[in-house]
Amino acid sequence: MSGTLFIVTAPSGAGKTTLVRGLLERDPKVQLSISFTTRDPRPGEQNGREYHFVDVDRFRSLRDSGEFLEWAEVHGNYYATSRTWLKEQIAAGRDTLLEIDWQGAQQVRKAFPDAVGVFILPPSFEELESRLRGRGTDSDAVISRRLLGARGEMRHVGEFDYVIINNELQAAVDDLVAVVRAARLRYANQHARHLQYFDFLEQD
Ligand code: 5GP
Repeated sequence: MSGTLFIVTAPSGAGKTTLVRGLLERDPKVQLSISFTTRDPRPGEQNGREYHFVDVDRFRSLRDSGEFLEWAEVHGNYYATSRTWLKEQIAAGRDTLLEIDWQGAQQVRKAFPDAVGVFILPPSFEELESRLRGRGTDSDAVISRRLLGARGEMRHVGEFDYVIINNELQAAVDDLVAVVRAARLRYANQHARHLQYFDFLEQD
């Protein structure tokens, strides 16, 4: 039995984290993959909960030993997904969601061609900027770099299966819940999980 892998990508400030939190509340059967990063924890973030926070040396040694399924440099910091952990989770049938950038999404798709890609678009650039400033956790220089990065990131929207426009939070959460439900209903999933309903296929 294999779980479904969801890849959720968005420019920072598009509301991805809030949206994903909304999905997890509605659907506790989806679990979040916790990435490795070299960036400093933001206030309120805990090691092992939002991320595994590591220094650059440790990151490089994990990367060089093949521990990462994918890695990328985003806004001057390194981020990566653990290969061993993710493979185990999918093999054990657990639906798992990755919040990663478009570069990571491309690499993961090669290893997991059945992964479901979801891109979150902000309603506008003005809205994106005001959300980034409103967050109050990043300096002006970091915000400007992220805004520049956002345009580049959004050019990759066409590589994803689904696009959610995060205009109104509740509607966007509903959309994400719908994507997850639809993915679970794919033939390969239904056949693997509910073999008893497919007996008739053997009966001719
Ligand atoms: P933040 O620092 O705001 O938490 O995340 C910044 C960016 O890094 C986001 O676009 C996020 O999707 C991306 N990111 C987080 N974890 C990973 C990861 O494991 N791999 C890749 N490629 N990107 C990641």
